[in-house]
Order: sequence, then C-alpha cells, then structure tokens
Amino acid sequence: MPASEFDLIRQHFQCLGSPRDDVILGIGDDGAVLAIPPGEHLVAAVDTLQSGVHFPEGTAPAAIGHKALAVNLSDLAAMGARPAWALLALSLPAPDEAWLAQFAEGFGALAAASGTALVGGDLTRGPLSVSVTVLGSLPAGSALTRGGARAGDGIYVTGTLGDAAGSLARLRRGLGQGLEDERWLQMRLDRPTPRLAAGQALRGLASSAIDVSDGLLADLGHILEASGCGATLDGARLPLSAALRRLAGGEEARRLALSGGDDYELCFTLVPERESELEAVMAPCGCPVTRIGEIEAAAGIRLRDPAGRVVAAEAAGYRHF
Ligand code: ADP
Ligand code: MG
Repeated sequence: MPASEFDLIRQHFQCLGSPRDDVILGIGDDGAVLAIPPGEHLVAAVDTLQSGVHFPEGTAPAAIGHKALAVNLSDLAAMGARPAWALLALSLPAPDEAWLAQFAEGFGALAAASGTALVGGDLTRGPLSVSVTVLGSLPAGSALTRGGARAGDGIYVTGTLGDAAGSLARLRRGLGQGLEDERWLQMRLDRPTPRLAAGQALRGLASSAIDVSDGLLADLGHILEASGCGATLDGARLPLSAALRRLAGGEEARRLALSGGDDYELCFTLVPERESELEAVMAPCGCPVTRIGEIEAAAGIRLRDPAGRVVAAEAAGYRHF
C-alpha cells in the first residue's frame, strides 16, 4: 500500500532541524504552540519557490530544500532576527519518496545549522512548489528596517554579488558544468548562505538593511524609497568573486552584480561615525563586508565608473527588467 500523507510527514519531516525547548507542541496537531522569549518581538517571513521560476528545472532536491529555507532565513537576517521555527507547505506532483528524502536532507541540514525547528506545514498534490514560513525573534524595538538610511551614510554589502545570476546565465546557454569556477558559481545559485550572524551583529549599528534577492539596484532602491533619499555607487568597488571575473569578465561581472538576482547577501547603511565599529563586529561573521557607495539627499541611483564619471544607473543601461 502506498504511504499515506501522514506516513510521509512522519517519515520525512517529523524531527527536522534543531530540537528547541520553546516548541511546546510541534508537528502532529492542528497547530504548533511556541513560546516567544519574554521581552522579544516575533519576526515572520514567507517565500514560495516554484519550479522553473525560482530554481531551474532539474535542480537537485537537496538544493531545493536548502534554498527554500535559505531565502526565508535571509529575510530574517535582514531584519536582524534570530531564527527559531519554520513551517513548510509543499506541493508535489507525486509522492516520490526518494525526492522527499533528499529534499528533507537539504532542508534539515540548514535548519539544524541555523538553530531552526520545523514545527508544521502542509503536503498537497500539485505542480512542484515549496512555500516556507520562518519565525524568529529579536529584542523588542531592535529590528533593522529599510527606512533608516540618511544622507551621508555609507552603503555596504556582505559577500560577493552576481555569482548566482552568472551561473544561471551560463546554465541557460548550456554551459555551467565541469569547471571548478562553474561549480562554485552554481553552488552560489543552488545553496545561498543566509547572512544570519551578520544581520544580528548589525542590530543597533546599521541605519537600514535589506537582503539582496532581486539584484542590488532593485533592492537598494527599496531602501532609498523607504528612507526618502538617493545614492551613488562606486562601480569599481562592487565585490566580485574571482570565479565570476574569470568566467564573465570584469564588465559583465559588474553588470550581474548590479542587476542579477538570487545573491542573498545583505545590503546595509551605516552612519560614518560608526564605521570604525564595523570591522570588529563583522569579523566573527564569516563573510567579507565592502563599502560600495554613499547615501545622498538627491533621489535616484548614480554610478561612479572606474574613470570617476558619475552617471544615472538607468542611463548606464542597468535595468532590473
Ligand atoms: P490539518 O489538516 O489539520 O492542517 P494536516 O493533516 O495537514 O493537518 O497535517 C498534520 C500535521 O502535520 C500538522 O501538525 C501539520 O503542521 C504537519 N505537517 C503537514 N505537512 C507538513 C510538512 N510538509 N512539513 C512539516 N509538517 C507538516
Ligand atoms: Mg493541512
């Protein structure tokens, strides 16, 4: 007899992630009962990944499991929150046990590494789609938001930009196998690293923050809109990986860094007087941080090219769509 929905849940999802004392009641009842730490605010985020839209068809199930959780943890990181709990709504064309086992392995490894417990979800038949809700917490009043940037603040990003978009572009052209650089770029596409430690370290320090999921220009644009200001970016300072530079060349790498998506790095702003605190705070977070520009009063995003010329980002040909 084929496994029932309940057997599949019990087998693959019952004990996924970190065991946590604050899970009063987890998977198995009509709802999870969770204890929020006293003096903390709850931070909630949800994102859906659809096959062919948010990951290429044929992506390894373990990578889909990892990414579905990672993109949500990245939202918590951008708020400065500590992750605690996740809910998983999964739609599958067929109850494929091997697929579920690999998916659960990818999801579970990141959940365990990030201290997240899977506390509930839903399993239905339909086109492959994965929707994850994450819940986390932070000291009341300490959330990082998009609205706090002010003229004079520096603009920073974690990690490197454009790697995932570079990989996707190569995969679409039928490249992107074999070479070590290509495999590294594909790992950046399939297995993004949510910058959780960095986000929490920036609480009480950054004036605004966002995670870069739709491309730097688009996401920095959200900070600028929410904060009522503009920015100039230094094209020469965009952090590019050696792999992307080698495979795409400098100019294309910069284009991907500005307009590509799926980076899941943090972009944040900081008042200049506090820049000296940044290095010590970020050192234990395991990712580089680069100052890429400054916030200005005049609306819009401008780009300073390597020759020092400043042009509007749109005029330079950078568009998100
Ligand atoms: P209900 O019909 O009351 O929503 P379900 O039968 O859908 O309950 O689910 C039974 C239990 O299993 C619930 O606790 C639910 O949260 C959990 N669950 C269902 N699907 C998943 C999943 N994909 N991952 C984790 N937990 C799940
Ligand atoms: Mg249900």
